[in-house]
Amino acid sequence: MILVTGGAGFIGANFILDWLNQSGEALINLDKLTYAGNRANLASLEGDERHQFVQGDIGDTELLRQLLQDYQPRAVVNFAAESHVDRSILGPAEFIETNVLGSFHLLEAVRSYWNGLNGANKTAFRFLHVSTDEVYGSLGASDPAFSETTAYAPNSPYSASKAASDHLVRAYHHTYGLPVLTTNCSNNYGPYQFPEKLIPLVIHNALAGKPLPIYGDGSNVRDWLYVSDHCAAIRAVLERGKTGETYNIGGCNEKTNLQVVKTICTLLDEMSTGSPVVPHEQLITFVADRPGHDQRYAIDAGKIERELGWSPRETFESGMRKTVAWYLDNQHWVANVQSGDYRQWMETNYNER
Ligand code: NAD
Repeated sequence: MILVTGGAGFIGANFILDWLNQSGEALINLDKLTYAGNRANLASLEGDERHQFVQGDIGDTELLRQLLQDYQPRAVVNFAAESHVDRSILGPAEFIETNVLGSFHLLEAVRSYWNGLNGANKTAFRFLHVSTDEVYGSLGASDPAFSETTAYAPNSPYSASKAASDHLVRAYHHTYGLPVLTTNCSNNYGPYQFPEKLIPLVIHNALAGKPLPIYGDGSNVRDWLYVSDHCAAIRAVLERGKTGETYNIGGCNEKTNLQVVKTICTLLDEMSTGSPVVPHEQLITFVADRPGHDQRYAIDAGKIERELGWSPRETFESGMRKTVAWYLDNQHWVANVQSGDYRQWMETNYNER
């Protein structure tokens, strides 16, 4: 039995589906169900007793204490976070609340639980914290990719709050001996991603014949990884990683935002039927840049490849093709997540830029 937090979000839901498929081991999924949490992501697990869903906050110490005591998990995997950079710029408070304070409360509950374990259960226990490459800040065009020893230099409230949580996780290992693992991953894409993020937003808007917004001149570079490759990397780190270590995860797929959007347009021209506009590239619209927008992220994933034998299965081309196909086949999912809350946020914030 493992405890997963934030398992109703994009990567957490993909991880749970993948986990049950690959290992079959039961899990508890603790998720607050913020605007980004969506139980429909796990609808295929309805009636599956291996998945226990609990709605709750990682900052709720009493609930955590109870869950850990009742279920006695052998590991905790922490995905729960506020995750959208634009939202962190407009309202950082929730990012501090969940990503910093919530992670702290979670660590405290896990430390107390781990202290109470004995023998083999104590030795085998692991806490895996899922984090981002954004903690390393921004690279220039010719800088080497981020490695595990790159100094932290977060630039947005989101990345600063994730950096704080990474530091707390590190400190709980060095101070209390808690068996932790941290992963810092590049940008993910794939099924079930909330349509405020670049790739699902562009697919959704293109299908609706709406403008495809690109920040600045579209030259910002991200290193894209298909979500199931991230899930496989997390499984590898959980099973074979060395406690106290961090592992960078990336797809070796550096693309400018403009390249990403043009790839989607080309795929939609080919794969969608009955779209309102062909070619979709005509919808590309450059909008005022995000404040403090990091220019380039790139991950050196050499350590996890060498030490744990992980490497991505999907190329950018194959992963993007799968992603576009999924959104075309699941347009009802996108329509359902376009809730009042999200629609209102997009109308009042995004369109003003
Ligand atoms: P997401 O926003 O899609 O999902 C976050 C989930 O956490 C949601 O289900 C939400 O309800 C839940 N949650 C939020 N606050 C909570 C709280 N206080 N208690 C319990 N649950 C809470 O995010 P995602 O894209 O799936 O990212 C998951 C993790 O991976 C995050 O920690 C993020 O920093 C990290 N990460 C994301 C990416 C990416 O490209 N999306 C890349 C690297 C790392």
